[in-house]
Amino acid sequence: MTDIKVLSVTSEIYPLIKTGGLADVAGALPLALAKHHVDMRTLIPGYPVVKAALTNPVAVHSFKNLFGAKASLLYGEVAGLKLYVLDAPHLYDRPGNPYVGSDGKDWPDNPQRFAALSRVGADIGKGVLKSFRPNIIQCHDWQAGFVPAYLHYDGGPRPKTIMTVHNLAFQGRAAAALLHDLALPPSSFTVNGVEYFGDISALKSGLQFADVITTVSPTYAKEIREPEAGMGLDGLLEVRKDVLAGILNGVDTQVWDPATDGRIAAPFSSGSVSGRAKSKAALQTRLGLTPNAKAPVLGVISRLSWQKGLDLLLEALPMIMAEGAQVALLGSGEKELETGFMAAMARYPGQVGCVIGYDESLAHLLQAGSDVILVPSRFEPCGLTQLCALRYGAVPLVARVGGLNDTVIDANDMALAAGVATGVQFGPVNGSQFQDALRRTLKLFRQPKIWKKIQANGLKTDVSWLRPAAQYAELYRHVLAK
Ligand code: ADP
Repeated sequence: MTDIKVLSVTSEIYPLIKTGGLADVAGALPLALAKHHVDMRTLIPGYPVVKAALTNPVAVHSFKNLFGAKASLLYGEVAGLKLYVLDAPHLYDRPGNPYVGSDGKDWPDNPQRFAALSRVGADIGKGVLKSFRPNIIQCHDWQAGFVPAYLHYDGGPRPKTIMTVHNLAFQGRAAAALLHDLALPPSSFTVNGVEYFGDISALKSGLQFADVITTVSPTYAKEIREPEAGMGLDGLLEVRKDVLAGILNGVDTQVWDPATDGRIAAPFSSGSVSGRAKSKAALQTRLGLTPNAKAPVLGVISRLSWQKGLDLLLEALPMIMAEGAQVALLGSGEKELETGFMAAMARYPGQVGCVIGYDESLAHLLQAGSDVILVPSRFEPCGLTQLCALRYGAVPLVARVGGLNDTVIDANDMALAAGVATGVQFGPVNGSQFQDALRRTLKLFRQPKIWKKIQANGLKTDVSWLRPAAQYAELYRHVLAK
């Protein structure tokens, strides 16, 4: 079987730097693809944490002037990942979050920072490295969106390109005046080029010029062709529907394995959910909740943003409190939501516990100790927390959108009778539907036999990368054969 060489271009990768699901996917996919004879290497910006993780980096290329200063490309391997690290201190030598400064605002030169990443991705595609010439470039989100555009306007032989959309809400918009600074030719500023409502959009560029477009669930692949979820790109996606596919994400089942997880209070196997009790008690202690094995704990691990629908949770708190349930939340993001949850904690001591921040270990304990994991997103391309929940015996209560629709089987009468339910879905996404779903979930919780069955079904669900990796490998072969 011929080896397929894929360059994955991404702005974050687990375990080095992560703000969301993109990092999980970028980190897990190369490992899962190895057995499919796919050699996937990753191009990533040289943020300080990424450079620090490289033990014996080898300089493989240099750039005299990459968007304003010289830069070099380092190769190294970390955690089984083959990495090309773009060492460009003028663009990436900044602490903290990859996209925003300490004031929480986007770096003003983000268009240039990620255009540089894309430019180098395109160069690797055209063969600047002797050791690795990919036959496919997989571009993740807007940060890699200019790769297909550069290759298009450069002309000449080029690899196939795949634009993978993890979230259509982030579009990489830049002012039209930046065209020259972004190394795009004047001719590219047209509706069939990089132009997008009078601006430039990196994501639109990728969607326009990639050979294939993927997104991270079949339902989201359909939703984004409609105005409601299409965010201005639905027209283009409708035109390109024949090359648009949805492949679900998996989770790294070694990182997320309740049987070996050192970050939970006591490991448990998929056969015995009773092992979760210790983690529930530990979680209640950690978050200042009243210790009570009987009180249902509703867990949240999330970015706090409008997308995630957590304002609906704030609204539902009086009802949740009246039902005797507890809320355990870990998240960070929009100030208003952060303040809202901190105020709720003060108002309902012992019943609402919140940690504002980002904490991998606590995320594991939340999965192992919560009875329910809430994901009331207004839109959700795939969603990973509900997949982890299934694997950890926490019952996901999710909005019926995107990947949440594709990964959770609602405990309706038919699914319960057939014994296949894995969680609860609700829709449309609004406060009253959410509260109905909460009541329905809590009613199921009070019926231990049914509840255990739902948990067991979740634990049996395959949320690994096994199937998605096979689907990607098949897609790569298909793209190369075109
Ligand atoms: P998104 O990428 O939109 O943020 P996903 O559900 O696809 O949402 O992925 C989010 C990932 O980030 C999950 O692995 C989730 O556990 C993790 N996560 C989100 N917020 C936090 C947090 N505050 N602390 C730790 N992990 C978090």
